[in-house]
Amino acid sequence: MDKFEVARTLDEIARYVELSEPNRFKALAFEKAARAIASLDRDPADLIALGDLQKTPGIGKTTASVVEEVVRTGKSRYLDELRKQYPPGIFELLRVPRLGLKKIGLLHDKLGVGSLDDLEAACRAGRLTSLRGFGEKTQQKILEGIAYARKRQSNFLLPVGIEVGETIRQQLALIDAIENGEVSGSVRRRLEVIRNVNIAVATRDPKSVSRALAKVVADLEEVDESTFKGIARNEIEVYFHLASPREFGSTLLRTTGSEEFVRALLERAGDKPAKTEEEIFERAGVPYVPPERRENADDLNRKRRRALVKLEDIRGTFHVHTTFSDGRNTVLEMLTAARQRGFQYVGLSDHSKSAFYAGGLSEEGLRQQQAEIARHEQEVTPMRVFRGTEADILADGGIDYETATLTTFDFVIASIHSRFGMSRDEMSERILRALDNPYVTFLGHLTGRLLLAREGYTMEFDRVFEKAGERGVMIEINGNPRRLDIDWRLVGRAYDRGVRFSIHPDAHSIQEYNALITGTWVARKAGLSPREIFNTKPVDEVAEYLKGRRAAAMK
Ligand SMILES: [Zn+2]
Ligand SMILES: [Zn+2]
Repeated sequence: MDKFEVARTLDEIARYVELSEPNRFKALAFEKAARAIASLDRDPADLIALGDLQKTPGIGKTTASVVEEVVRTGKSRYLDELRKQYPPGIFELLRVPRLGLKKIGLLHDKLGVGSLDDLEAACRAGRLTSLRGFGEKTQQKILEGIAYARKRQSNFLLPVGIEVGETIRQQLALIDAIENGEVSGSVRRRLEVIRNVNIAVATRDPKSVSRALAKVVADLEEVDESTFKGIARNEIEVYFHLASPREFGSTLLRTTGSEEFVRALLERAGDKPAKTEEEIFERAGVPYVPPERRENADDLNRKRRRALVKLEDIRGTFHVHTTFSDGRNTVLEMLTAARQRGFQYVGLSDHSKSAFYAGGLSEEGLRQQQAEIARHEQEVTPMRVFRGTEADILADGGIDYETATLTTFDFVIASIHSRFGMSRDEMSERILRALDNPYVTFLGHLTGRLLLAREGYTMEFDRVFEKAGERGVMIEINGNPRRLDIDWRLVGRAYDRGVRFSIHPDAHSIQEYNALITGTWVARKAGLSPREIFNTKPVDEVAEYLKGRRAAAMK
């Protein structure tokens, strides 16, 4: 038991006492004792042995007996008693703005409220207004506060973290005392779902930086000497990790993580301060590992490392919707935007006829769409336009068009959009059968997951990968930030079974071509180089491959 653990026990008692005691002085006594113990310059056990504990300013008779008990037994019966009186979720209510311990105690005693859920139910039933000091308006404010409290504890899609991190980094650049600032943490590792934003900050003047940070984020608080935390955009926690410039590299590395990776690297490099991350890798005698690849220590053991795919390597794309199905931009608009992005080729693929909810195309609709493409493709030369479809994989594994229609496409993306609830076996059979159709070029969004909203359907992945490898069907890396499907964790298993990949935006508007950025991150996290990605190939090679594959299917 060190002094800080003893202090934490006293603090926790203080919080419980404040819930239950109308007299605030009792709680204050425990708070004061906690501070006194935390600032001792020796062990509380020594003080007790010398009989000096009660002579310490801030420690009274009651608090001294608690300290003695905690030091002697490691726990406090008084605290155990208090804990029993309240449900474990009681302090989560503190996240609701304007709700202090006193009010929380009252809500618990009078209405039995012990969690956010309880509180919400009580508000909705109008029960708060029966309490003194709680009017209709307060009740409404508390309801809003609950939503806010929930948001604060939730997870976020990566692009939220990227945007918040970059915006803050730009603000930091304007602060004189800051010499360098870099987004670190899971955002830098490009994890698909993140909980907070971390920023490593190089400064020789932490005092003035901490003052300046209070203007960059709300609710700034000190976590420890060199760490501050605050809230950005009213919803997401931001941690600032301050370091002197000569330690900036160490701090950037440590706060980027992952823990496993950092531990393994420092074991080789030694834990000496470093100006840059590169220095640390050099000292360890291993080539630099990009942040995306730092989930585990595997890459440290590789002698040779392939260059990861970059956005600039992408020469064209497939999986693009238009107003013919559920896209928001016309054929010409989608083509023009692709051309402006410098693509050598683009493959349009609207939904197939069974996807009626997404405006899927009948054979007649398809003819019109292809005529529209023919009308406009001259306007975007030399970019090449490929004609395709995102065809539903039907419940029995069939593809949603007759063979006669399939022969009119340059490529076919086969995707599941219905009957997600099938058993693992049924789903596997369904997909395996679809992969047997020789016209299928790509398997779209492998599991149909929607991050933070819907779990993907399950299947026997290795059998599916095996078959895809054998039939030469590429697996799409769907870059829509809500999907990021195939999961990067599965890519290695598919790769080992001969599967190759293609990065697609699943664009429903011209802005959504940006999903190629997020899609490329998935590929990088998975360790893929340009060689394994179909749409890094130049247009002639792509055209030839698609032509050859269709010819083979028609045989
Ligand atoms: Zn789809
Ligand atoms: Zn789509």
